[in-house]
Parts: sequence; C-alpha cells; structure tokens
Amino acid sequence: MAHTEPVLIAGGGIAGLATSLALAQHGISSRIFEQREIFSEAGAGIQIGPNGVRALSALGVAPLLARHVSVPEEIVVHQGANGRILTRMPLGGWIADRHGAPYWVVHRRDLQTALLERVRATPGIAVETGFAIAEAADHGDHVSVRSSTGTTVRGPVLVGADGIRSRIRTAVAPGTQLRFSGKAASRALLSPDAAASLGDAASMGVWLAPGAHVVHYPIAAGAQIAVVAIVPDDRMTDDWAAPNDWSALAPHLASFAPELRQVLASAPEWRRWALFETAPLANLANGRIALAGDAAHPVFPFLAQGGVMALEDALVLASALANQPEDPAGALKAYEAARRPRVNAIVATSRQNGRIFHLSGPAAFARNLAMATVPAARLMARYDWVYGWQPPA
Ligand SMILES: Cc1cc2nc3c(=O)[nH]c(=O)nc-3n(C[C@H](O)[C@H](O)[C@H](O)COP(=O)(O)OP(=O)(O)OC[C@H]3O[C@@H](n4cnc5c(N)ncnc54)[C@H](O)[C@@H]3O)c2cc1C
Repeated sequence: MAHTEPVLIAGGGIAGLATSLALAQHGISSRIFEQREIFSEAGAGIQIGPNGVRALSALGVAPLLARHVSVPEEIVVHQGANGRILTRMPLGGWIADRHGAPYWVVHRRDLQTALLERVRATPGIAVETGFAIAEAADHGDHVSVRSSTGTTVRGPVLVGADGIRSRIRTAVAPGTQLRFSGKAASRALLSPDAAASLGDAASMGVWLAPGAHVVHYPIAAGAQIAVVAIVPDDRMTDDWAAPNDWSALAPHLASFAPELRQVLASAPEWRRWALFETAPLANLANGRIALAGDAAHPVFPFLAQGGVMALEDALVLASALANQPEDPAGALKAYEAARRPRVNAIVATSRQNGRIFHLSGPAAFARNLAMATVPAARLMARYDWVYGWQPPA
C-alpha cells in the first residue's frame, strides 16, 4: 500500500478514533467518517483495565485522560439480597504492580474528549462528521464508500469501526445476525453523597442476585458515581441510550437489599442499553476491508472489556498495515489472525461471567461460598491473560 492515500475509517467511536491515532504513529494518514454531526457521549462510566491503560499510553492519550480518572482500590462483591460482603478483589496498587499499569474508571465523555483532542492535534487525520456511510465496496486495488447523500470517497483500505450495528460488517462477514440477550443495562450517575451508604466511594461495588446484578464505581476523579444495573428486559430497542423510568426498572431490582434500592431510586435519570451479541464472526477482514471494535466483536459488558478491545484492535491493525505496506489484504489477514483468538476468548469469558453473576439457588450458594473462601488475589489472577496484554512492539 502506498501510504500516500489516507485509510478510510467508518465511525468515530473508541475504535475509529484509536485506529486513526495508531495509524498516524506509523506515518499512515486516515479519514474518519462519522455519521453524527457532533461528538457526544451519553453520561455513563467506562472501566479501563491495565491492558486498556497500556493501549492508551501507546496512543499518547493516557496523559490527557489521567486527571479525570479514578483508581478504585478494590472490587467489593456483595450478596445482592442482604448486602453481605462475599469478597474484596484487589485493584489499586496491587493490580498496577502486577501488570505495570493501573485500573482506571472514567466518564465516557472524558475518554472520548481525550481521544478527540489527541486526534485533532495529530497531523494526517481528517475527521468528517455528518457523513453516514450507506455503502462500501472493495474493488480489488482500492476501496470506496458512499455516503447517504451520494458522496463517494476512495482509499487503499477501509476499517469498519461503526459499532455493533455495523454496515461494513456485511462486506466482511455477510449473514451475521445480532442476537438479543433478553437483558438490558440501565445506567445512571449519582453524587458521592447520594451513594454514601453503599460503602467506600473510592472502591467499585458489585451486587449479585438471581438473573441480575448491579455495579457502581467512582468517575470524574471521584466527583460522580456511575451505576449500571443489568436486569431481564424484553424491550429489544435499537436505541443506543434510550431513556428508562425508575418505575420500569424497580420491579427487576426487587430482590436486592433495601439500602441498595433506596440509593438507586434517588438517581435523577436512567438510560437503557438493550444487550446484543453475535456468534463469533467468520472473518474480521476480507480483502482491503477490516472490522474493529464492536463491529468486529460485540461483547457483553460483564468483563468490562469491549472498549478496551477496540483500543487493542487499533494498535494491532495499524502495526499489521505498517509491517506489510505492499500487501494490504495480507496485512489485514495478519491482523485477523492476531486478534481472533483473543477477542473470541474475551467474548466467551464475558458471557460466562454473566452466567456466574446471575446464578440462583444452590449454584448461587456454591458461587458465594467459593468467593468467600478462595483468596481474592487468586480470583483476580484468573484475569492475568486479560490485563497482561502488551501492544505490538
Ligand atoms: C452497559 C455497557 C457497559 C460497558 N462497559 C464497558 C467497560 O466498562 N469497559 C469497556 O472497555 N467497555 C465497556 N462497554 C463496551 C464499550 O462501550 C464498547 O465496546 C465500545 O463503545 C465500542 O466502541 P466502538 O468504537 O467499536 O463502537 P461505538 O462506540 O458504537 O462507535 C461506533 C461509531 O460509528 C458511528 N457509525 C455507525 N454507523 C455509521 C455509518 N454507517 N457511517 C458513519 N458512522 C457510523 C457511530 O455513530 C459511532 O460513533 C460497555 C458497553 C455497555 C453497553
């Protein structure tokens, strides 16, 4: 690939912005096409494990984000029905020492702002908003995208970073179907005062009940508490961040301890994400088109790694294109080979976490007993393969 023509990137979310930055580090220019007119993020938090912080450091974004992050000391896991603490899994200094990078929790808006700030300060990246890609084609020696208003743009390579409902996916893995989980994640933001009865505001809390769980953690350098409640919900909306009423959510939280419900009831606003997945894609790349982020591997949020995978994808994809400048299709297949085993394992582990979190009856009793008796550091060490990831040299 002659690196004179910019790589085309569909989507300006975490995957698209990170891919443009990773390409720029190899001297490869890019054009990001984002359908939205303005970049905005619905208020919610995002966890960034050490592998994600390492990726953000490699992209030059970590210093821009550092002042907005919180660094939780531990994950306090509660039995949902009565609040009893089952285990305290170490984060803070323990995980930073173990993996050479901290575990951050941030407001999504702060992550997106830091990525965008870095993108705008980096030569060789053009961001075109209000450009919804309606069609993409691989012509063998180049690719092209056409906008919904009929503008056509060509380039050497196309990266589909257009999220879970990707349009580009059909060019890479045709026939892929989204599967609805029957669950939704409802998210809210609270003040630390409102959440005071949930325990140490500097830690993350997880509450487990049959079929549902609740997670809370500090964001915006401790100024807010992000809450996520994952409950059964058969409303299969396509909306990203649909408003949700407490009156619709509350019945699904009836089995949780009153002190938790009371805090959740005080949230000023709830937004709801219906949770979807796909079977593992047959391909992540086809010819000169590749997928990254949720377009490539939608993942349930039960391991908090979807956005982090998008950051990892970006670095691996850019490195593959830089290593094989004369053979973009070969480079994208190398990217696919490097990423598939890992993203499939992340997707499977996340799904398994969901099953474990939502157990009921004797199985839940056995889970609780194991959590209460196995040393917490050993529980965390099971994720060394997740957090120990290193960017390509
Ligand atoms: C409840 C919940 C909690 C989560 N928590 C975590 C967490 O703690 N940690 C973590 O790492 N991950 C988490 N995730 C996952 C994470 O949010 C996603 O994996 C991540 O946002 C995916 O980024 P992306 O850039 O691939 O896709 P998106 O963020 O969806 O971005 C895609 C972009 O493409 C644009 N686009 C779409 N179609 C077109 C088109 N045709 N033309 C042009 N532009 C287009 C969209 O407007 C959008 O800007 C969570 C997800 C959920 C639902």
